[in-house]
Amino acid sequence: MLIDAHCHLDDERLIGDEEQVLQKAKEYGVELMVTIGTDEKTSAAAAKIAYRHPGRVFHTIGAHPSDVDRFGESELAEIERLARETHPKAIGEIGLDYYHASDRQKQTAVFERMIRLARGLSLPIVIHDRDAHEDTYRILSDKAMGMKIMMHCYSAGPAFVDRFTELGCLFSIAGPVTFKNGQEHRDAVAKIPMNRLVVETDSPYLTPHPYRGQRNEPAYVKLTAEKIAEVKGVNLEELAQVTTQNARNFFKI
Ligand SMILES: [Zn+2]
Repeated sequence: MLIDAHCHLDDERLIGDEEQVLQKAKEYGVELMVTIGTDEKTSAAAAKIAYRHPGRVFHTIGAHPSDVDRFGESELAEIERLARETHPKAIGEIGLDYYHASDRQKQTAVFERMIRLARGLSLPIVIHDRDAHEDTYRILSDKAMGMKIMMHCYSAGPAFVDRFTELGCLFSIAGPVTFKNGQEHRDAVAKIPMNRLVVETDSPYLTPHPYRGQRNEPAYVKLTAEKIAEVKGVNLEELAQVTTQNARNFFKI
């Protein structure tokens, strides 16, 4: 059995097709999934999807760094209310994104505010770090010591594995590990301890090989898991068992 630790089931490419998406996931052995909030709207939608599928779909409440330019006090207060009232399994995705042009100071302020929210609610955090590895590491080591941290779609390569491991992070690996040009991701996976590995799709984005270019969905986490098992030199069953247990412990599911 596999867990897709990070998907966006509220996305319009998936939501209209919800029952078939869940059915196909089951056929691929993906029994559990965590649907991720990115702002006040997608977080509310994620909570609703989780309520429709108790014990099967779980949700988080988040404030995505590339959306910060539109976050005012009322949006952030609404995200905090959803975090208190909808029983999420984590706060996230939150973090830093220097690929998109949104204001970096505001990204930092929102990131730190969401870490405080998670700490206050004793919830783990799911981190988005795109082209911002040094600053993400600095803020986490400064503000999130002792918290449970998952690096979503880990992309900082082998060079950062030791530092994030020391912080206690889990590393969630997505479709790029299967890409022809994904050698850096495979080198990172080779270095990550088994007890820190988790698998995700980030669907509908980042579709693994050989479906790259098509819509991604939770079923395809199996393709990513197969590639990781190959890199680690273990069979798929063992990889599934370990990553599922790691994700269960992290989200308490
Ligand atoms: Zn995501």
